[in-house]
Amino acid sequence: MQTIDKYNFSGKKAFVRVDFNVPVDENFKITDDTRIRGALPTLKKILADGGSLIIASHMGRPKKNPDPNFSLKVLVDHVSKLLGTKVKFADDCMGEKTAAAVKALQPGQALLLENLRFYAEEEGKPRGDFASDEEKEAAKKAVKASQKAFTATLASYADCYVNDAFGTAHRAHASTALIADHFDAKNKMFGYLMEKEVNAVEKIMKDTARPFTAIMGGAKVSSKIDIIENLLGKVDNLIIAGGMTYTFTKAMGGKIGNSICEEDKLDLALELLEKAKKNNVNMVLAVDAKIADNFSNDANTKFVKVDEIPEGWEGLDIGPETEKLFGNVIKASKTILWNGPTGVFEFENFTSGSRAVGEAIVEATKKGAFSLVGGGDSVACVNKFGLFDGISYVSTGGGALLEAIEGKVLPGIKAIRGY
Ligand code: AMP
Repeated sequence: MQTIDKYNFSGKKAFVRVDFNVPVDENFKITDDTRIRGALPTLKKILADGGSLIIASHMGRPKKNPDPNFSLKVLVDHVSKLLGTKVKFADDCMGEKTAAAVKALQPGQALLLENLRFYAEEEGKPRGDFASDEEKEAAKKAVKASQKAFTATLASYADCYVNDAFGTAHRAHASTALIADHFDAKNKMFGYLMEKEVNAVEKIMKDTARPFTAIMGGAKVSSKIDIIENLLGKVDNLIIAGGMTYTFTKAMGGKIGNSICEEDKLDLALELLEKAKKNNVNMVLAVDAKIADNFSNDANTKFVKVDEIPEGWEGLDIGPETEKLFGNVIKASKTILWNGPTGVFEFENFTSGSRAVGEAIVEATKKGAFSLVGGGDSVACVNKFGLFDGISYVSTGGGALLEAIEGKVLPGIKAIRGY
């Protein structure tokens, strides 16, 4: 497989798919540039080699072309500053003007293309409302057909293709997967960020040092079922935390008061517990909870056993006994995966559990464990508690990371390495 480190970009035009889907405020000022910074090593290497950059990304969910609310133009100055060179901008990713701008690119120069998703062909999904299913089917076929030409045009801009957009690796879109078919194996590769993400997932899922502990938190069981099921075939310990705790507690006959619960998932919770037993997985559930008399930071609180929550009260975080229990399991682990907070960490008074889990992971990592944290809210926790540097790898990919942990083959990865 080709790698970015080995490749000499001198005199080559590189089409680089990045994930510049960054949040902007109402004045289109970037509020968090982590994703742009994540792609810099790849972009800088190509320029330093004497290659030219065609940078392509999506941003948001535009519904038309053009859609001024989602123009990548607002990124040009910041990307130029970070790259240390003036980046040109093509206000369309298609068209003759853009083709000419690409052709005129000299070694060491960079061109940012307008939002790929201005074209429905990027995602290959039709837009708008349809009067009937037939009409929708026809529109679907039409966009799939024109997607081929769209993809071929993007590919025609460059001598090589670099995918550094792990955040969209779980999508089989034109620029994230289909485009790779237009390049031979020597001329397509992962960027540095993508490489790091793929290696981190592999270290967790394939090359696993034991014991392997996964901490699954967050609001609902339903959004994590596939992951939990897949993990039950891989981990030694599965810690269940966050809102989904109470679905398990209720399923086992406990009293959960007003805590969040998915009534239609009670049987599933029991099945998962059964499966864990069969697979010799140590399923670790909370033993106590910090409960509140309403869903707010200023609510009255107390600590109770997790299965003795009175009516009118709800569990918003784990309690001190559970912090100890989880902490001991985590600290004895050699591989750790964390997705989802242990409580409503957005409220200052309910951050303790998530902080304790994060700190235990940092401690285990110091002792040589490999730790991977990923999926929106757990990354927010790590940043909030200043633990970033103590974790082996903090993933940039929410949905992509979760699908990889579910055991799915990601189209963006397969397109480059064939599996
Ligand atoms: P997820 O996106 O599934 O990882 O869920 C993250 C969200 O779960 C965060 O916004 C938390 O506030 C929420 N959450 C965690 N624990 C609880 C709880 N005990 N009750 C309600 N929401 C919770």
